[in-house]
Amino acid sequence: MEKILVLLHTVDGALPRAALEVLGLARRLGGEFDLAVLGAGAASAAQQASGGASKCLAVEGDAFSVSRYATDAAACEALIRASGAPLVLAPGTMRFHRALPGVAERLSAAIDTHVVSFTPDGVAGRWFYRQRIEATLRRQARPWVLLVEPGSEAPAEPAAGAAPEVLDVACDTRTAVEGQSAPLAGEQTIRPDAPLLFVAGAGWTKKQKDGAVHTDEAAGLILDFVRRTQCSLGSSKSLVDLSGEGQAVLPFLTHLHQVGQTGSSPRHRKGLATCCHGEEPHVVGWRFIQERRAVNLDPNCGWTRGKADVVYVADAFEVMRELLRLL
Ligand SMILES: Cc1cc2nc3c(=O)[nH]c(=O)nc-3n(C[C@H](O)[C@H](O)[C@H](O)COP(=O)(O)OP(=O)(O)OC[C@H]3O[C@@H](n4cnc5c(N)ncnc54)[C@H](O)[C@@H]3O)c2cc1C
Repeated sequence: MEKILVLLHTVDGALPRAALEVLGLARRLGGEFDLAVLGAGAASAAQQASGGASKCLAVEGDAFSVSRYATDAAACEALIRASGAPLVLAPGTMRFHRALPGVAERLSAAIDTHVVSFTPDGVAGRWFYRQRIEATLRRQARPWVLLVEPGSEAPAEPAAGAAPEVLDVACDTRTAVEGQSAPLAGEQTIRPDAPLLFVAGAGWTKKQKDGAVHTDEAAGLILDFVRRTQCSLGSSKSLVDLSGEGQAVLPFLTHLHQVGQTGSSPRHRKGLATCCHGEEPHVVGWRFIQERRAVNLDPNCGWTRGKADVVYVADAFEVMRELLRLL
């Protein structure tokens, strides 16, 4: 087994779940590994998780506490060179997706994204073509950087160890980070780490049994549920497309919420689809959801029947009102 560098970054001064998953993978592989952490509070976060690591490294300071290509790339390059490990495992976060391809180019390294497994004899599993084809592959090139898909490994319990060697990395940059702006003007409803994915379908905006649409109530029920359970919100394509057709819409949904063939295939432990019939959300969008349930008025809805573990043949408005009452 070749030596591994576990390359992580902090979020708000601590190691996020995606980072602990990569650490868990490295520990399970059972070979020698170094640990390197970048970001605000990196030295302390590294020490709290460095148990079992041969070498522990960190880069921190004002310039490295924000996500910015130039500084992140300089720090990652320095950390990878200081370790010298031929294999680099890193979480597939937005921050590393931006920085590490450029770092690989500087180091003449190979890089793979969407990695979901790695074996001690150097075989990586990864997805291609919007997660519809799974491949296993080896590479001769070293270093080999692998961005591990969040949600594909069990997280490690961090074990404290040696204090890191803090590298002094110099990097001139003309880019000042002023803050972040999220695509949703209001609140964050896409939560990749949530145990539950709640999928809203176009039925929420259709005429109901009293012959009227109840979009405002639908919006209230969905948002209330998402806020109370802190679940992640997904949508069918039809529902997010409605706005383009001038129909009544749920204003907090964007195409970023869309699950399915032309949307995302998120990884959550449980999924609950409501007022949703489509093939794509139930087949492709849910392929990594472990426990799937659906609420639909139509007992013959083929895709919910075919793909959900449990189907509640019921009015989703009534079900959600009752659920919220119980919550
Ligand atoms: C190339 C291609 C790519 C596509 N990619 C995607 C994709 O990525 N993601 C995606 O979602 N779709 C995708 N689609 C579209 C997809 O085929 C479906 O058209 C779409 O998913 C249907 O959306 P829906 O299930 O929300 O709406 P509908 O098909 O309109 O279903 C609404 C459902 O709500 C139920 N309902 C209504 N009122 C209630 C109530 N009160 N209680 C309970 N149930 C109720 C109805 O019984 C019905 O089953 C794609 C299509 C194509 C051709």
